[in-house]
Amino acid sequence: MAKLVSMVPLLKAAERRSQENPGNGSSIGAFNVNFYAQAEGILEGLRRAGAPGIIQASRGANKFQGGASKIQDMVLRAMSSLKMDNYPVCLHLDHGTPETCVDCINSGFSSVMVDMSEEPLERNIAVTAEIVKIAHKKGVSVEGEYGGLGGVEEDVEQQAVYSNPLLVPYFFAETGADALAVTYGTSHGPNKFGPEVNLDHVLRIEVVEKSYRGLVAYGLNEKCFLVGHGSSTIPKDIVAEINANGGKLKDARGVPLEKIIAGRNAGIRKFNIDTDLRLGITAEFRKYLYKDNPDIVKKCEPLRLAKDVFDGKIAAKDKDGKPVDPGKLTDPRSYLDPIDREILRKDYRGTEMEELMTRVKNRVAAHVEMLVTQVFNCAGLADAVKA
Ligand SMILES: [Zn+2]
Repeated sequence: MAKLVSMVPLLKAAERRSQENPGNGSSIGAFNVNFYAQAEGILEGLRRAGAPGIIQASRGANKFQGGASKIQDMVLRAMSSLKMDNYPVCLHLDHGTPETCVDCINSGFSSVMVDMSEEPLERNIAVTAEIVKIAHKKGVSVEGEYGGLGGVEEDVEQQAVYSNPLLVPYFFAETGADALAVTYGTSHGPNKFGPEVNLDHVLRIEVVEKSYRGLVAYGLNEKCFLVGHGSSTIPKDIVAEINANGGKLKDARGVPLEKIIAGRNAGIRKFNIDTDLRLGITAEFRKYLYKDNPDIVKKCEPLRLAKDVFDGKIAAKDKDGKPVDPGKLTDPRSYLDPIDREILRKDYRGTEMEELMTRVKNRVAAHVEMLVTQVFNCAGLADAVKA
């Protein structure tokens, strides 16, 4: 049976590598998951790079798959299938409420994020500290958030504000949390910045630098870690691929790779990547269903249902059930929604979906491998975590 670890040993290994290589920091990737082939893709990408990693499920993902324990079971089976039972992998709840945190702690997650960032700081601290008490008893790590992120992600939709670096050590000291999402100008979703935005003004790397320096000053940097949300790069070629196969995405703009690297060097130890994987998966679905194998829908009922969503024959909805233009779909849950969840949680091998899901897995694996190797600089760290 596969075993999950908390995020602490992973982030600590990245912190140690950062200390050993001044000016060339290291961080860990946290990748969102919704279905089985995506889980295998993330794991495969990590393994190819010898990188430890975090698989995270949002509240929406848990709901989509019918509960936290179903996601946990799916990830453990993917680990076993790839013979990664003892590989350093953390399963983390992204943007939890106090209730969903407790549910995930009891369902075998090894880490949770309690997002009280919209509450006043004192209440944020009190609730986060409460979750830390419950989680740490079970060896589960906790991420908090202070500040707020712009953009749209899951149930989070707000304007960007910036974290106050002076309060970062205070937040850790008062809550006992292991990690803290800081806001330095990144935002959620596929439309992060309009074309008119000057990223040098919006992305304030100095917020990270000052926060990290505070942790070092208090000697907290090997047990308290900074997290960057909304860090997808939105590769233009993937957007073009989606649009070449019937998509109608507008020019999307993510965080440039050099800005992620700057954040990493300034002290971010965990980067959250969701949108990039969604776009890659959507590109594979569209290419397969419209160009490479349009006839598959005659023999594969689940893929017929997915294509009916892209074609507008089944109404496309977002995660809140609101109608979406099918040309603008990027969230796989929208076009996977009519499909039986049990099929999506199972190994795809030997089914009519095998060819497409293998492509999805490989696409996710390639992107994860590229990021952890070239951007996060955590390739080869898996052994350091185990040690
Ligand atoms: Zn987030």
